[in-house]
Amino acid sequence: MNATQAAARAWDVVIAGGGNAALCAAIEAAETGASVLILEGAPKAYRGGNSRHTRNFRCMHHGALGPLVETYDEEEFYDDLLRVTKGQTDEGLARMAIRYSQDCLPWMQDHGVRFQKSLSGTLSLDRTNAFFLGGGKALVNAYYLTAQDLGVQVLYEAQVKHIGIEDRAATHVEVEAEGALHSIRARAVVLASGGFQSDIDWLARAWGESARNFLIRGTPYNRGVVLKDMIDQGAQSVGDPTQCHAVAIDGRAPKYDGGIATRLDCVPFSVVVNRNGERFYDEGEDVWPKRYAIWGRLVAAQPDQVAYSIIDSRSIDLFMPSVYPPFSADTLDGLAEKLGLPTAQLKETIEAFNAGCREGEFHPQQLDGLDTTGVTPAKTNWARAIAEPPFYAYSLRPGVTFTYLGLKVDERARVSGPEGQYDNIWSAGEMMAGSILGQGYLAGFGMTIGTVFGRIAGQEAAKHVA
Ligand SMILES: Cc1cc2nc3c(=O)[nH]c(=O)nc-3n(C[C@H](O)[C@H](O)[C@H](O)COP(=O)(O)OP(=O)(O)OC[C@H]3O[C@@H](n4cnc5c(N)ncnc54)[C@H](O)[C@@H]3O)c2cc1C
Repeated sequence: MNATQAAARAWDVVIAGGGNAALCAAIEAAETGASVLILEGAPKAYRGGNSRHTRNFRCMHHGALGPLVETYDEEEFYDDLLRVTKGQTDEGLARMAIRYSQDCLPWMQDHGVRFQKSLSGTLSLDRTNAFFLGGGKALVNAYYLTAQDLGVQVLYEAQVKHIGIEDRAATHVEVEAEGALHSIRARAVVLASGGFQSDIDWLARAWGESARNFLIRGTPYNRGVVLKDMIDQGAQSVGDPTQCHAVAIDGRAPKYDGGIATRLDCVPFSVVVNRNGERFYDEGEDVWPKRYAIWGRLVAAQPDQVAYSIIDSRSIDLFMPSVYPPFSADTLDGLAEKLGLPTAQLKETIEAFNAGCREGEFHPQQLDGLDTTGVTPAKTNWARAIAEPPFYAYSLRPGVTFTYLGLKVDERARVSGPEGQYDNIWSAGEMMAGSILGQGYLAGFGMTIGTVFGRIAGQEAAKHVA
């Protein structure tokens, strides 16, 4: 089907976006017999947005469920969420997403998603997070196949520009496809086209000019076009445009779509300096999975939004490597030259750090309390002198995962307009995640929000048109 054919008829449910949230909505709606059209802005090869970069889904459960072991109950899940968001959440929506997650895992399996054994280790991920066999790409492909079997139609390279709304109800969706603007009639609309992180100008307006140096870990297609269109039309928004999930990634990653392979895990075993060769934060504050998200913001606050993580030969095998090889040199002078750092300052920083290190047991797998003395800022764990050549370094840059400014929805995923809920507009995924994530991030919760609200949006849209 092409865009002209799609515009020649009316659809029960039109969905903006083609990632996890959109697909869950499409499948639910199509299973009721509704006619469903997905408008995916990306070309087919890049379909699936940020969802294709994902690895896992956080899920509540009592007893073993799929690949998950033991129990992860509502209270523990909610406590974990409260800790990372520092209370900036909507309790009703958050608890609903948590409770509904346990029904989602078997549903995902029934619709083609396969799971693999979780990572084991300090974070008990095998209890909390179910990992997708083949990653998010396999999940997205499985859902597209399922949707296709159900008769869902998909237009690729179809950029939604505007939602036509009259008297609190969407009437049509304006989409740019095949070089022209088309108006597609819809009885119900689901908005699942992600955050605005890939619109660098918008990011710069929210964050300041430094945002131009940020890297975007996921799809370049989530530019917030539909989000802005809805807000301009009076839809209620939630969240702060400066809040987002951002991590420190390899500074050599591409501007977009570097994905998980560009993540850097060396920081706790390193000394991190900025462009001036100066340290600025405790590299050993906690285990890396609990700290990597704050390093995005820390690096963002440094000159030129860049930093360098420096280790010696004793630590090179202690972490999962980046997809890029480290910079290396036999001397600190040589390393400084390769990195373009001021040699004297870098050496002074490393020497001062080394002088503050003490004898003690070094345990890379746990908080070992091996801290510095007389060094500012202190390093509170894994403080071992950087002394054994060759020396290695990785550059760091902030990598934005997704922004939190979104549409306000109710527990049925219905979008709030200027005068109460719209009659037939729902939203799911990143586009409304700010309703639950006021700040901070809980690993695997993005897919939980998308799956739960995507499914509800699809069910509600189908009910509306039945
Ligand atoms: C590298 C990386 C790793 C991640 N790992 C995890 C993880 O392991 N677990 C987890 O829970 N979360 C993870 N996340 C977060 C997760 O990807 C998101 O929370 C989730 O995928 C959001 O799903 P979504 O459907 O809302 O958005 P997306 O999957 O991004 O889908 C949005 C879709 O909208 C389309 N689109 C955008 N604008 C338009 C438009 N105007 N018209 C038409 N289509 C449009 C896009 O092309 C895309 O298909 C990760 C993110 C990244 C970047």
